[in-house]
Amino acid sequence: MIAELVSKNPHKLRELSVLLPGWQLEPTAAAELPEETGTTFYENARAKALFGRTAAGPGRWTVGEDSGLEVVGLAGRPGIYSARFAGPGAGDEENVEKLLAELRGVAGVGRRARYVCELVALSPELEERRGRGTLAGRIAEEARGAGGFGYDPVFVPDGEERTVAELGDAWKARRSHRAAAAAQLATAVGSAAPER
Ligand code: IMP
Repeated sequence: MIAELVSKNPHKLRELSVLLPGWQLEPTAAAELPEETGTTFYENARAKALFGRTAAGPGRWTVGEDSGLEVVGLAGRPGIYSARFAGPGAGDEENVEKLLAELRGVAGVGRRARYVCELVALSPELEERRGRGTLAGRIAEEARGAGGFGYDPVFVPDGEERTVAELGDAWKARRSHRAAAAAQLATAVGSAAPER
């Protein structure tokens, strides 16, 4: 099945192509995505999938993804604003710097955090299927590792000592929030998505 991924993030496309191997994910043809105006990851993921319908060719499914980081000591921030935590157009490094700065002096439970990923797939007939995954962990004192993207250099999953950026892509493909969401989505789509 060919499906259009409504995202401009090359890391997500790379990870989801491995996680949904039968799907032939292609990046959206749209030059610009609309502003994210939803109040939840699910609303934003659904809005992206729906937006993709205008550009998707006939018979195609569209997939919207929204994800981010929720930190206990920051009352759940940055949440849906994870990509622009340090301001509009901020890069991963600036976002990580701001996170570490806001958590300076915070120890224990305040550094606990989780990643959340919501995936919404829409069929050509606008039938909706969903997948959601989370990954619990804590925010490290400083950035370590070169794999992954976003907050991976400072995110240490429960049961691990290394950051996700140190654990690498193969670990992420088995254990990440995105892996869990993709598995749930694949099950939810099941036979509703014939090979086409
Ligand atoms: P979105 O494109 O609005 O969904 O932005 C998601 C943002 O959340 C990314 O830019 C990252 O900052 C963060 N994020 C989501 N998933 C991950 C991940 O797997 N690793 C690290 N950061 C992530």
